[in-house]
Amino acid sequence: MSFAELGLSEKVLQAVSAAGYTTPTPIQAQAIPHVLARRDVLGVAQTGTGKTAAFTLPMLTRLEQGRARARMPRTLILEPTRELAAQVVENFERYGTNHKLNVALLIGGVSFADQDAKITRGVDVLIATPGRLLDHFERGKLLLTGVELLVIDEADRMLDMGFIPDIERIVKLVPFTRQTLFFSATMPPEIQRLADDFLHNPVRIEVARPASTASTIAQRLVATGGEGHEKRKTLRGLIRGAVELRNGLIFCNRKRDVAQLQRSLANHGFNVAALHGDMDQRARMAALDAFRSGEVPLLVASDVAARGLDIPAVSHVFNFDVPHHAEDYVHRIGRTGRAGRSGAAFTLVGRGDEKALAAIESLIGQPIPWADGDLASLPEEEEGAPRERRTREREGRSKRGERGRRPERSREARPEERARPPRAEERPRAARPEERPRAARPEERPRAARPEERPKDPRRAAARRRDEDDAMPEAEIGLGAHVPAFLLRPVVLKKRKERE
Ligand code: AMP
Repeated sequence: MSFAELGLSEKVLQAVSAAGYTTPTPIQAQAIPHVLARRDVLGVAQTGTGKTAAFTLPMLTRLEQGRARARMPRTLILEPTRELAAQVVENFERYGTNHKLNVALLIGGVSFADQDAKITRGVDVLIATPGRLLDHFERGKLLLTGVELLVIDEADRMLDMGFIPDIERIVKLVPFTRQTLFFSATMPPEIQRLADDFLHNPVRIEVARPASTASTIAQRLVATGGEGHEKRKTLRGLIRGAVELRNGLIFCNRKRDVAQLQRSLANHGFNVAALHGDMDQRARMAALDAFRSGEVPLLVASDVAARGLDIPAVSHVFNFDVPHHAEDYVHRIGRTGRAGRSGAAFTLVGRGDEKALAAIESLIGQPIPWADGDLASLPEEEEGAPRERRTREREGRSKRGERGRRPERSREARPEERARPPRAEERPRAARPEERPRAARPEERPRAARPEERPKDPRRAAARRRDEDDAMPEAEIGLGAHVPAFLLRPVVLKKRKERE
């Protein structure tokens, strides 16, 4: 199958060939003819499958007819994160070199004025994150009644980030007669319900089992002790010993660990950048560009910041933490071994990670081999170490609460998943509850509201904030999720570990 057989215009075919692509990927081969025929499409596909070109190429062909009117975009693409939105713009720039189309990007963290000016001139393609799009709409600067084609990309990611109410609202603002393209890496029931609501008689295209991992990726588990110092040492050893490491992505579960690990690696002489939701937009794009261009070969990232990013030809993925959610493992390691290239994925596993690891192995349907020895080969843990580890995790969560930030994935915030605060008898002498204000019990703490529970009006403000950052502040009651660190600090009886 060649691109010429798909019905794309001559201008688009020239641009595709200039980009060096000769054969359409399966999602492109299957979706493009239907998009050109104005059918609704439900695409179950992960990033790395070429799904972005599966909608940008036929959109470009279709947009050759007609022209944009002021404030009335002709097509609309919704993306969950700013980076993904920026990537779609790049796709339009790459494949649209022979077109004179106006493409506008509406994302948080950028001034409204420039975005307003573009919309006012008239845009053919509007690429937006949901919160910022609704902000523009509410300011009366944007009319969505001219949208002929709507793309909802990474729908499962939208769900994770609490964007579904915004998406539902936006869908009501675009004409009922529009064409809709809906992409999701996975199809949980909530996403299927949305697909049923938004799509009319869609063509369903599924290009890979959602939970599958590419066979070109060599996956290995690496047993590691300790939390900070020990784990970082293990990681450094892995990076130094990696065979044919061209560039590597290093994933942490928590934003603060991303920053800390990046500093630590830099201190040890590695050329490394960081990408997490607390960084401003400019710093995020700079880190990503440096990594993409090869100027910086290592990037430490969190799941939310990195999900869906198009970073071609990554040779290695290192999971500094075993992800809490099994599907994140699939997304993380999907960054390597793309398009038939070989890749390697190492996951650091410590005591206490067994449950998360079992969930991953069950999801991908295969055991992951250990690089060396398994957890049993680790030296006996010193007494008190597991407790110290639990306590540190609690401290991490309470600090997050202190900043009023939502954890990177809303599901992480559910009380039943949180580590419980120490019981009175477990606390150090100085921390007895009767002597100081007591910390909120889990059931008293506000949990991150699920999308369907959020109040109607404050949603706009919340969505705005979510676009400003991947993390959303939540209302706090009393001490909120914050448990003062001194209440959680264990009695240190042994000698302090050497600091890095
Ligand atoms: P995506 O799934 O859209 O994130 O695309 C993943 C990567 O595949 C990107 O780096 C694209 O540039 C690349 N790509 C898209 N289409 C093709 C193709 N037909 N052949 C080879 N690579 C492609």
